[in-house]
Amino acid sequence: MFTAASLIRPALAALEPYTPILPLDVLAARLGLPIERLVKLDANENPYGPSPKALAALANEAYYHIYPDPGHTSLRAALAAYTDHPAAHIVCGAGADELIDLILRLCLAPGEAVIDCPPTFGMYSFDTGVCGGRVVVVPRRPDFSLDLPAIEQAANTNGAKILFLTSPNNPTGNLMPPEELERLLRLPLLVVVDEAYIEFAGLDQSFAPWVRQHANLAVLRTFSKWAGLAGLRVGYGLFPPWLAEQLWKIKQPYNVSVAAQTAACASLADRAYLFDNVARLCAERERLWHHLAALPFLKPYPSAANFILCRVVGRAAHALKLTLEQQGILVRYYNNPYLHDYLRVSVGTPAQSDALLAALREVFANG
Ligand SMILES: *Cc1c(COP(=O)(O)O)cnc(C)c1O
Repeated sequence: MFTAASLIRPALAALEPYTPILPLDVLAARLGLPIERLVKLDANENPYGPSPKALAALANEAYYHIYPDPGHTSLRAALAAYTDHPAAHIVCGAGADELIDLILRLCLAPGEAVIDCPPTFGMYSFDTGVCGGRVVVVPRRPDFSLDLPAIEQAANTNGAKILFLTSPNNPTGNLMPPEELERLLRLPLLVVVDEAYIEFAGLDQSFAPWVRQHANLAVLRTFSKWAGLAGLRVGYGLFPPWLAEQLWKIKQPYNVSVAAQTAACASLADRAYLFDNVARLCAERERLWHHLAALPFLKPYPSAANFILCRVVGRAAHALKLTLEQQGILVRYYNNPYLHDYLRVSVGTPAQSDALLAALREVFANG
């Protein structure tokens, strides 16, 4: 006979289960609202969706019955032009999420340490746990900037192998100043800069060009946000040669589907259209920010991404999230100590913002 405890790796058996996100149809049924009534501002998805050329390429793709190109040849050639990075040192994944997992599996032996700087994206610590690694937590300062001396101290005392940084950071929206990265790159570890939202900040804010000059820097990107392809799962990383070479060895050959590769290539070929939508979202971010700031119980933080973090003042953030949800408006609440009093709202269309603002004003009117 066996038990779960005798077969499951102890580090994994002890892991907290991931909080699942309810699919839209289930949530709509639960709220008694039609799906079209839902205003989904909880996952930073792009309300304008994929480029019409990506949709046409998907409709016309003739090789869904053939396995995808394991070398992502066309996509990497297009990405090399987009990022000005050699194709040989670009690795694509089923979302940036897969690359986070691959980097950790490649570098981390059980018990080895990773530095995480919350509040930030949850996958760094989650995947470190799955790999049996140890998360060394160096919280951000009250203004959400990095605590450089504390990171340096943690790196020097814990023998950490990887430091995850995010710019713009999710969920706080702030960019990392270049002088901070310059200083952190002197640490004897791999620095991974996650640029999932960089298109909303402007590509001139990217650290991608630095990858060619620093052997311990990797930059991660995704098509999920700016290109509206979250449902297709496609991301990529710019790596130094030694790391790209090793990642190629351990990735699943067919990790990026035919549909994802086709849509990503067509998106890169239709950048003018997609960047119009990015500009639209950036303009809407500023408009929404000012309206949120005018509400007495919200304090929005400046953001370089397609979302706005708000501190909820004088009332419970979780209750506010649930009140909005009753009206079909979905925003992100974090059940963690760093963000107990906060909500994150994704920037949607002007109509979606107006629905959110109307609901918030009603909450205020009702006390
Ligand atoms: C959304 C997000 C990702 C995930 O990207 P995928 O390509 O969809 O896996 C990665 N990093 C950050 C910071 C994100 O917010």
